Amino acid sequence: STSTPYEYIEADYIRELFKPRVNSGNKGTFGTAMIVAGQYGMAGAALLAGSACLRSGCGKVMVHTPLLNNNIIQIGLPEAIIHHDYNEKRFCNPISSDTRFDAICIGPGIGTHTDTSRALYDQIRRTRCPLVLDADALNIIARNKEWLDFLPAKTIITPHPLEFQRLTDCKNDGYSRLKVAQELSESHELIVILKGHHTAICLPDGRVYFNSTGNSGMATAGSGDVLSGIIVSLLAQHYQPSVAALIAVFLHGKAGDLASSTLGEYSITASDIVNNISNSFRDLL
Ligand code: AMP
Ligand code: MG
Repeated sequence: STSTPYEYIEADYIRELFKPRVNSGNKGTFGTAMIVAGQYGMAGAALLAGSACLRSGCGKVMVHTPLLNNNIIQIGLPEAIIHHDYNEKRFCNPISSDTRFDAICIGPGIGTHTDTSRALYDQIRRTRCPLVLDADALNIIARNKEWLDFLPAKTIITPHPLEFQRLTDCKNDGYSRLKVAQELSESHELIVILKGHHTAICLPDGRVYFNSTGNSGMATAGSGDVLSGIIVSLLAQHYQPSVAALIAVFLHGKAGDLASSTLGEYSITASDIVNNISNSFRDLL
């Protein structure tokens, strides 16, 4: 609408945002996504984000992860290319500048160790492609709030309510929290995806989009990692960050709805959301 900055996103709106998929395209056409995820003991975060990314159309997925995750990820995600950290247990070494990728997601299950904090700082500083920050990346930034000032313009951040509270010290929910998210988005030129029931997507120009898909079954461990994987896949395909955010949030919720229509809200897991991403695309396109 023209009178308020608020929009409610539904299928017809999202469908129009898709570019035609190039018939003659190859892996290069659809881009390479890099995912920095999974400290030792949380390899599942890397598997969930990586498999969601592979199900969402990009050409190649690389996973930057500690050495001890090697076997579990190679076996769990044979299509992914592992990019080793050289630390056994956690993200400590930023990715060298000769590794090529089109978009990067940092955060699912990386932990908040001081070495990881340092690596995150360096990685953000050297990143020149579209960036998604999720989960522990946001928890680290919450302890170093001045870092918000150098996040590249159009960086996508995906806090759940507690991560948002840590990041902004905003303890309220409802309208006042939305205002804080809008201010953060506008002042720092960030795309803020405030996750929850009816996720709000705040764009730097002041517009806010509320999602129409999703259900309480998605309040389950790993659910957000799946969303991050979908977003970075669309960024690798050169969707504008705001468009990637809108499409991904909608598709992720729809995949959750399709999963719960067979398994029920009590029983769906994050893997079931991944397994319904294809149905979610088919349903829409
Ligand atoms: P995370 O807390 O990072 O695992 O993210 C949880 C994901 O599940 C987000 O995408 C939320 O929007 C979604 N989600 C959680 N609870 C609900 C709910 N009650 N209704 C709809 N979506 C939800
Ligand atoms: Mg999360």
